[in-house]
Amino acid sequence: MKRKRGARFVGLLIVTSLLAARVPLFVHAESLTNDKIRESEESKKHAEEERKSLKSSLTDVKSLLAGLEATKNDLQNYITELDSDLDDINNKIDRLNTLISDKEFEIQTTEAELEQARSVEEAQYNAMKRRIKFVYEHGEASKIEMLLSSKSFVDFLNKAEFINKMSAYDKRMLDSYIDTKNLVAAKEQQLIEQKLGLEDAKSAVENEQDALQTLMEDKEKEITAYEGDISNKEAAIAEYEAMIAEQDQIIKDLEKAILEEKKRLLAENKKAIVYDGGQFKWPAPSYTRISDDYGTRTHPILGTQQFHNGVDMAAPSGSPILAAYDGEVIAASYSPTMGNYIMIDHGDSLITIYMHASSVSVSEGTMVARGEQIGCVGSTGRSTGPHLHFSVRQNGSYVSPWNFLS
Ligand SMILES: [Zn+2]
Repeated sequence: MKRKRGARFVGLLIVTSLLAARVPLFVHAESLTNDKIRESEESKKHAEEERKSLKSSLTDVKSLLAGLEATKNDLQNYITELDSDLDDINNKIDRLNTLISDKEFEIQTTEAELEQARSVEEAQYNAMKRRIKFVYEHGEASKIEMLLSSKSFVDFLNKAEFINKMSAYDKRMLDSYIDTKNLVAAKEQQLIEQKLGLEDAKSAVENEQDALQTLMEDKEKEITAYEGDISNKEAAIAEYEAMIAEQDQIIKDLEKAILEEKKRLLAENKKAIVYDGGQFKWPAPSYTRISDDYGTRTHPILGTQQFHNGVDMAAPSGSPILAAYDGEVIAASYSPTMGNYIMIDHGDSLITIYMHASSVSVSEGTMVARGEQIGCVGSTGRSTGPHLHFSVRQNGSYVSPWNFLS
């Protein structure tokens, strides 16, 4: 405040002395800032810091989220693997069930065979018992009767032989049926044992199946937990993004307020500006490259030396052209070579020129502030593609724009 008052006082002295000499009045551009602007700039700085810290929190949450997503994916892949293991196990169980039912059928068949063998054995045994009983009950008398009925001695011998053979035959048949019965019983026993073995195998596989299902259920629970965590992180991200957007809007509003206040001050101090040596604002913020630099170059076809009096900044058509510094628009017009062009006087014989614009949003006499949009990039005039040709004139001649840009 004190310094400002001092400057005003010195300014007043200059005004008094210069007015007499009829020399234009200049006030140092530093005075084009005031408490309101400084306050806004302070708020802007604060908002920018806030935004930076939000952005870093956002990055942290995003990397946490990425970690969670990766773990969830791993779990899902694991579950898919478990699922295919479970399929294998189910197939194994199916195969065992088929084997078991085959065995059951075999056992049933064998059981029927055994039943058959048992009844044959029993019938044979009963027949033998009847025969023995008959011979026993009738004693030798029947045998003797039978033998006595023989017509000859040869017949007698034959009959005796027949009786012996009859009992020997009975005995052989009975033994044979007993053997068969035992064989069938042994076979049945074997089948029962085989079936038990299969059932043991099946219950082992079923235990495996249970364990796998439990594991899968556990992993699915884990996934649900991760999903909860992920949606929390996503909510946090949305919140951070909303807060960042809010800060962006605050910054934008403050920038606008600063620019407007500066413009108001400029209008107040019209014709009273002096270039204070400050850095230029880059006039084509959307530029992609320097398509042609300031300086002398050899013409690619003619081979002659040519001087390029500005810097060509290739930029999309319609992208903004900004005033490089505070000043007054001294020309906003069209020429066949420069196309739509703007010239700004920054005081101290320092002028900037902007060419080939697609549109111009200022007119002669407009006071503009550093960074204010004055038009849009285009390809009007002698131009081969959308770009901003930016020249700087100082004390009546072209100088390198790089002296003021960085
Ligand atoms: Zn050019």
